[in-house]
Amino acid sequence: MKNLLILTVAVLLMNCSQPEQVAQLPVEIPDNPFYADFNVPVDFASITSDDVSEAAETIQTITDTRLANIVSINEENRTFDNTMKALDELYANYSAISYPIYLMAYTHPDSTLRNNALNFNTTLSQYVNEITLNEDLYNAVKSYAGSDEAKELTGYKKKFVEETVTGFERNGFALSQEGRDELKGINDQISSIGDEFSKNIASIQDFLILSNEEMAGLPDDFKAARKQDDGTYKVDLSYPSYRPFMKYAESERARKALYVKYNNRATENLEVLPQLLQKRLNMAKLLGYSTYSEYRLEDRMAKNPKTVWDFEINLKNDLAEKLALDKAELLEAKTTKVGESDKVNGWEASYYNNVLLEEKYELDAEEVKQYFAMDDVIDGLFMITQTLFDLEYKEVENPSVWHEEVRMFEVYQDEKLKGVFYLDLHPRENKYGHAACFGFVNGRMTKEGYQIPNASLVCNFPRATEDRPALMPHGQVQTFFHEFGHVLHQMVTTADLYSQSGTNVSRDFVEAPSQIFENWTWNYDAVKLFAKHYKTREVLPEELFNKMLAAKNVGSAINASQQVFYGTYDLTLHDRYNPSGELSTTDVLKEVQNEISAYEYVDGTNFQGAFGHLNGYGSSYYGYLWSLVYAQDMFSIFDENGILDKETGLRYRDIILARGSSEDELELVKEFLGRDPNNDAFLKELGL
Ligand SMILES: [Zn+2]
Repeated sequence: MKNLLILTVAVLLMNCSQPEQVAQLPVEIPDNPFYADFNVPVDFASITSDDVSEAAETIQTITDTRLANIVSINEENRTFDNTMKALDELYANYSAISYPIYLMAYTHPDSTLRNNALNFNTTLSQYVNEITLNEDLYNAVKSYAGSDEAKELTGYKKKFVEETVTGFERNGFALSQEGRDELKGINDQISSIGDEFSKNIASIQDFLILSNEEMAGLPDDFKAARKQDDGTYKVDLSYPSYRPFMKYAESERARKALYVKYNNRATENLEVLPQLLQKRLNMAKLLGYSTYSEYRLEDRMAKNPKTVWDFEINLKNDLAEKLALDKAELLEAKTTKVGESDKVNGWEASYYNNVLLEEKYELDAEEVKQYFAMDDVIDGLFMITQTLFDLEYKEVENPSVWHEEVRMFEVYQDEKLKGVFYLDLHPRENKYGHAACFGFVNGRMTKEGYQIPNASLVCNFPRATEDRPALMPHGQVQTFFHEFGHVLHQMVTTADLYSQSGTNVSRDFVEAPSQIFENWTWNYDAVKLFAKHYKTREVLPEELFNKMLAAKNVGSAINASQQVFYGTYDLTLHDRYNPSGELSTTDVLKEVQNEISAYEYVDGTNFQGAFGHLNGYGSSYYGYLWSLVYAQDMFSIFDENGILDKETGLRYRDIILARGSSEDELELVKEFLGRDPNNDAFLKELGL
């Protein structure tokens, strides 16, 4: 049945005096829908569960062969193309199979296929991790890096070689065998301690039993879902319970009790965390870094801990003025309700914030929604981005997709096909539950021409009902614009290498091109182009829009300070803390919270036990605000020149989006801004 196509990756030897080249092994490409022809989209509609298995298994064999071919080249014959470009191609080809499988694992309606894809996901990502630990491959790269040709490299090629070598050495390849064995031991411990940390968070089961009086203020459906046979209510510590409770519960005593419980989730982790921090510190030291942050930040846009410390400290100082105003406003809301008081506590914040919104700002989210019918939002988003970036989207009729609701679009630039994106917008049973952009083929230069990138938006927006179109709350409109920013980053890339194209940029920069797009949903000139009442077609009134803006800015500095607090706490633990010393992680928490957060530390609370980011994103929490500061700074240029100004749009497209990480991200930002970045626009956006 299998129609095997034999591709031979031959390396031509031009210089006959060189030692004989080891023969390159042939790569056999199976006849399988995941292995689409060059620039032909995957035939998603025809995929079967067996196709998933075959594609997942064969890509590992194929990659083994490609790896062997790279490794087998003699030192004197190594070139950028046969070593570095070949390695980049290996990753590109691997991900062009593994990423669509990943997409299927989260979206395919057939449960057998979906579960099969989900199972292969794990093996596929383990396999790719092992490549980064392949010693022969490291030696191949290292030997090329030392060659005369490599020393002459400039630009993106030089950057790629340096980053690849550093990447391997961060995995311990610069160490002796003994050191590497030790490193492996520490890394295994880090991952098992990290698993324990996460498991403790996942198994949180604590709850509070409350009386009917203590439930006063909560919506009926919230109460009904938690009512027990004896008439009491069981409120657990999940977000859907905790958040509405803190927002609506009138009983301060009950709110405080839940707050204290919430901030003591997974207290087993108070023992686990110092172990995790100690192992990370040991790992960093073994590799020659003085702290874990130094290790973690080296390959980020931030580069080193000092930059992040300065970032957090400057933000804290710059937020001080608006923070004081926000706190005073919140305190006033409290005083009006309960009489003279001197501060707002952590368990009162959400409640009085809501009082403020309802009584002072009177914003009705239901009313706002009627101006954001999904089709209007899509039209607006498309119109704005096509105009700004000089693109044209064409919907593909009768596309081959994984579900009948999925739509497919081609992106054209100067009448040339640039990319393909899919919109999978509505919820389904067992579908991925949030909103995300799944980039599954990255753009890059190949022997056959430029590889067209493919991406899909996977969201959970409402469907139309019989009597009205799908109406989106403004928060969803913002999410839609955000995720589409990731799509565009993929679509308009011009980078030569897979590793540097589209969203393959530093982790602390990758959100900036999506965060920037949220601004178009907060700008009346943009919003009035598409926000029309679904019945009357009346444009969203400016007065209502201004109310939305005012409500958005309520407590904005309090929220930002909370982010600075989380970021600083994470940084402190990973950069300026001795896990085996006198101070506990709670001592540090108390100090940092009292210094930065709008709310005083409450004795007996230990929020860090359930601060899940400390595991997966150790020393990385700063990234959320970091990329936002860059996003807002870049948006300020649009704000000045006009939010539909094509010239600015094209500069943004060609400098920031198109180049990916083929140049240092900070240099790209500077080039676009025409100056050094700063946080003025970020602060302005908070309503300062
Ligand atoms: Zn994002």
